[in-house]
Amino acid sequence: MTKKTFRILSEETVRVTPDAGVDPDDENPYWTAWEELPPHPDPSQGCIRRGLCCKSSPGWFGPGEIEGAAALLGLTPDDLVRRYLVIDEAEIDGERVYVFAPVKLARDGRPAIPPATRADALYRTLRGTCVFFDGEGCGIYAARPIECARYVCTNKPGDNLDHEAIARLWKEAAGA
Ligand code: SF4
Repeated sequence: MTKKTFRILSEETVRVTPDAGVDPDDENPYWTAWEELPPHPDPSQGCIRRGLCCKSSPGWFGPGEIEGAAALLGLTPDDLVRRYLVIDEAEIDGERVYVFAPVKLARDGRPAIPPATRADALYRTLRGTCVFFDGEGCGIYAARPIECARYVCTNKPGDNLDHEAIARLWKEAAGA
């Protein structure tokens, strides 16, 4: 492992790069590529709700899910977006597809970028706790985004739903 410390916007970040290849039996290399995390006590158990993913990068909503999360919080979908979500994007078949995701919080507990604005490359790079993480678990668990619902950190990367697949769902929904 190669370890390098650097700063982005005054926040210290440690990047750990595997020296060679990825052991398919390791935990998801999405994590090991960014920092050393406490090892899973029993990978065969899958998700044990450690909250590590919620403290790094919130999952993307799928089409039709914003309404459920808004209803759970007693908000309109428009209010949910304006208060808690950001707009992210992926390129699908040469076309830009927009999606919604919970905003990440900065170290001061405030949104890292204003809600209802577009994520940029720097925002995507920085780690940040999801606005819906309450310290113990997900505050919208019953209506959490599809990426969160499907994500298990002990999965091999191909077994988790990636951003391209979620963006395709949005594209298909828009064309329906
Ligand atoms: S929406 Fe819930 S499950 Fe998803 S990252 Fe946020 S706190 Fe975690």
